[in-house]
Amino acid sequence: MAELFPVFTNEEIIRHRPPRNVVDAQKPYAYLIEPEHNANGEVVDVATLFLMNSECPYHCLMCDLWKNTLERSEPSANIPQQIKFALSQLPEAREIKLYNSGNFFDPKAVPPEQYEDIAGLVRGFETVVVENHPNLCGDRCRDFRDAIAPAQLEVALGLETCHPEILKSLNKGMTLDNYKHAASFLLSENIQMRTFILLKPPFLSEKEGIEWALKSIEFAFEQGVNCCSLVPTRAGNGIMETLEEQRSFSPPVGRSIEHVLSEGIKMQRGRVFMDLWDAERFFACQTCRKDRIARLNEMNLKQTILPEIPCDECSP
Ligand code: SF4
Ligand SMILES: [Zn+2]
Repeated sequence: MAELFPVFTNEEIIRHRPPRNVVDAQKPYAYLIEPEHNANGEVVDVATLFLMNSECPYHCLMCDLWKNTLERSEPSANIPQQIKFALSQLPEAREIKLYNSGNFFDPKAVPPEQYEDIAGLVRGFETVVVENHPNLCGDRCRDFRDAIAPAQLEVALGLETCHPEILKSLNKGMTLDNYKHAASFLLSENIQMRTFILLKPPFLSEKEGIEWALKSIEFAFEQGVNCCSLVPTRAGNGIMETLEEQRSFSPPVGRSIEHVLSEGIKMQRGRVFMDLWDAERFFACQTCRKDRIARLNEMNLKQTILPEIPCDECSP
C-alpha cells in the first residue's frame, strides 16, 4: 500500500546535510542554569549540560542535533570530565539535565563503564534528567538509576507525535507501541519520564499541527509521563529546508505556540512546557513579539494561563 506521507531513508536525510560544526571533543558545547517549574510545583534552578559525544545512530527527519556531535568512528568522549568541567563553571542548582544530543543509554555515546564516575558527580542533585530513545530503555537505565541514588532518575523520551503515519515519516525508528512499552518499563522501574513533542511536524497544516500536538500531549500523559515539552518544529538540517521549498513543511506561527501551551496547561495532567529557544522567529509582529515570548516564559514557570497580550498592530 502506498504511504500516506513520504518516508525518507537515512541516506536521503544525510545527503541533504550542511557541514557539521567544528566542536571540541573535550568540552560540553554548552552549559547553563535555567529555572524550571519542578514536579512538586516549585521553581528551581536546573543545571543543563549539552555534552559532547558520538552522534545518535538514528536519523530523524527533523533532527539537527548531530551538528554538535562527534562522528561515531571517533573514540567515545570522556563524559565525567565534561560534567566536572561544566559544574566547576556553574553556580549551584537543585536539578541537572545531562543532555547529549542523542541517547544517554547508547553505549557509544556514554560508555557504561563511565556511569559510576558520572553518578559520583550528580548524586547530590535532587533529579537527574537524561534523554533517551524509547528503543534503548532497558537494563542500563536500571544500572544508572541505582548508581545515582538517592537522586531521582528522569528519562526524557522523544515521542515527537502520536500521529502514526507522521511518526513513520519522521524516520524515528519507533512505533507508538515501542513508546508505550518503554514508558511502562520506566514506570515499573520507578524512573520518571518527560517527553518531547513536535508542534507542527512536516506534512501537517497549521490546524492539524495544533490538533496533533494536543493529542500527543494527552497520549503522553496517558503513558505516565509527568511533563511534556513542546518543540516548535524548525528547519536547519538540510532536508527540512528542501521540504519547506516544496511546501511540505512550514514552521508553526506564534499564535499556534500560544494556543498549544495554554491548552496543554489547561489539561492539568502534568507540566507542559514550550521550548522558547530562538522563539522570535515564529512571531511575525515586531511590536508585540517580545511581550508574547515573555508571557510564554512566565507560563512555563508558573504553569498557569496568563492574560493574552493585546497588540494594535496584529490583534484582530
Ligand atoms: S533520536 Fe533524537 S537525537 Fe537521534 S536523530 Fe532522532 S531526534 Fe535526533
Ligand atoms: Zn503584534
